[in-house]
Amino acid sequence: MPTNPLQGAQFVLAAHRIQQLPADEGAEVAFAGRSNAGKSSALNALTGQKGLARTSKTPGRTQQMVAFSLPSVLRGETSQAAAARLIDLPGYGYAKVPEALREHWRHEIDRYLHERRSLRGVVLIVDIRHPLKEFDRMMLDFCVGTLLPCHVLLTKADKLSRNQAAQALTALRKDIGANAAVTMQVFSAPDGTGVEEARSAVMSLLASDTRAARV
Ligand code: GDP
Repeated sequence: MPTNPLQGAQFVLAAHRIQQLPADEGAEVAFAGRSNAGKSSALNALTGQKGLARTSKTPGRTQQMVAFSLPSVLRGETSQAAAARLIDLPGYGYAKVPEALREHWRHEIDRYLHERRSLRGVVLIVDIRHPLKEFDRMMLDFCVGTLLPCHVLLTKADKLSRNQAAQALTALRKDIGANAAVTMQVFSAPDGTGVEEARSAVMSLLASDTRAARV
């Protein structure tokens, strides 16, 4: 079994505003998705740490941006470790969130996506049983429009047969159309389907061009 490059992930802080996030340097990958899609479970499976991101029995914490550091994942030319992070964005669409807080997060996520220089790509978590919802489409449109790479995890694949899961992937490919900025795969946290592939995808995103180089 290959070693897991994400296993050293460590909780750094939870932020209510983007100014509270760690310094905007190095490289980071943001995890986004509708509430309950399986984002925390995916983060835990990818890092191999069961309790790193709390699953949605505690929705309070998912209403924050949570930064996890990845010690010495990226090495610069001087072989000095460059900062690498995973950012867990607040789950979108949780019914009990008051409208004012919802608006706050709409605004902060929008600013984060537009302004964060170290952001190298987005991992979008989508429940494989549900077609793309408005939030998912907004995120995909944003990524395509700004050439920000996006990797979609069609999660909870264990709830479907292998055949149905493959069909869902094909349908999503067709829906999104040929687009170099968007990659996608089938995933399941409990049975480990696609975990290795997703780790590689995160590593590729972290190593991808800076935003400045893309525009
Ligand atoms: P989040 O709100 O997006 O962070 O979602 P969570 O990771 O907390 O998951 C929401 C619910 O879906 C929990 O009950 C999880 O146990 C369940 N879940 C998450 N991922 C999977 C998966 O791949 N397969 C199955 N069967 N259940 C999952």
